[in-house]
Amino acid sequence: MKKFEELKLIAPLQRALTEEKYDVPTPIQAQTIPAALLKRDILGCAQTGTGKTAAFALPILNRLGRNSRKALPNRPLVLVLAPTRELAIQIEESFATYGRHLRLRQVLVYGGVKQGNQVRSLKRGAHILVATPGRLLDLMNQGHITLDQLEVFVLDEADRMLDMGFLPDLRRIINHLPAERQSLFFSATMPPKITQLSKRLLRNPVSVNVTPKSTSVERIEQRLMFVERHGKPSLLQQILTAGDVERAIVFTKTKRGANVVADKLDRSGIKALPIHGNKSQNARQRALEAFRRKQVQVLVATDVAARGIDIDGISHVINFDLPIEPESYVHRIGRTGRAGAEGLALSFCTASEGSELHAIERLIGQKIPLADGQIQPQWRPEQKSRSSSGRRNGRSQQGTSQGSGSQRFSRRRSSGMTGEADKPKPKRRRRNGQQSRQRSKQTG
Ligand code: AMP
Repeated sequence: MKKFEELKLIAPLQRALTEEKYDVPTPIQAQTIPAALLKRDILGCAQTGTGKTAAFALPILNRLGRNSRKALPNRPLVLVLAPTRELAIQIEESFATYGRHLRLRQVLVYGGVKQGNQVRSLKRGAHILVATPGRLLDLMNQGHITLDQLEVFVLDEADRMLDMGFLPDLRRIINHLPAERQSLFFSATMPPKITQLSKRLLRNPVSVNVTPKSTSVERIEQRLMFVERHGKPSLLQQILTAGDVERAIVFTKTKRGANVVADKLDRSGIKALPIHGNKSQNARQRALEAFRRKQVQVLVATDVAARGIDIDGISHVINFDLPIEPESYVHRIGRTGRAGAEGLALSFCTASEGSELHAIERLIGQKIPLADGQIQPQWRPEQKSRSSSGRRNGRSQQGTSQGSGSQRFSRRRSSGMTGEADKPKPKRRRRNGQQSRQRSKQTG
């Protein structure tokens, strides 16, 4: 395996990496950095947790550190677009960490907060601008940002951006990019729309694909726990108090569910905070900081809020509810097992979540193994075809859950869990579409 020294980065960068104890580049870094240093465009298929931030930040910092151009007011040299505020903040922090011995100015802009400070920072000049699409466009439209000096454009988590309804914003932004530029494009998945977009953006790119979905998934120990809806909170408490949970993220389907679960945990003496789109930006940052500092043991998160949470040492990811979108499962469990560390992902599954489980297992191409002491309930998806008709209207099926004895499972569609009974469950597609639109408002 190559060492960072072999990549011949400029001394201030190498020094920061040594201080960070980065010794060996991750696979995406090893493949991306040499090509990006040669100013090639990159098409990177990689998820968060693979080290992709450094894969684009290091060559960019190297380039800026070498050419020592001055930061111009309102005219960034590098633009990094990220779908969420949290991810944008983390990217900016990574640039600050790796670039700490370089005298570069970076500015972060995102929506949901007043723009005054951002406008003033831009005016003072920016080498690197990290932005979410909505706020970027607002500021461009008001004349606070001009992209004519741009040397490098980075699009991070392109698939998530499209999921969140940012494609029209992206198209508008792309129209303002100078033709002569380097573009670095990252996406966890490459559906046709993303491929089309990448073709529009990239010129003769070097393709880097380090995450056939299974790699990160395989590194993380996954376990399935069948449980009745009402048994979820006590099962969660049992797990969190078992002693080996250093830091955990618990995922719920809804914002209200996240509040309820965090509240219950907190009242039972387990320090937990919710993090979701209804929380103010400050509250989210405070929660992340408290989690980072280990003042709270558990974050209870919805999918959108958890995107890009870049905190090492998360020992457990617990899917209190299975996600409706199977891709979210991969993103969720990627919060643990980061940069080669070991992680454990536990997924609760009720009888009403069988189809979600089936979709996830199809996507990751493997069956999630049962946790110790679990007995496979008969309703598990692959058994459906054998006797589905008999069971569909059956009152209950038998299964056991670790530590909670025998449990009964009803095939009746339940609302999920505490706090998820906010609304009746609409059709899956439409619901996702609605969520996407809401998200784009929250994050842009
Ligand atoms: P990312 O995929 O960019 O979110 O990075 C995931 C985590 O890996 C972050 O916490 C980084 O600090 C860490 N990391 C990235 N590259 C390396 C490396 N070469 N060696 C050790 N840790 C790394």
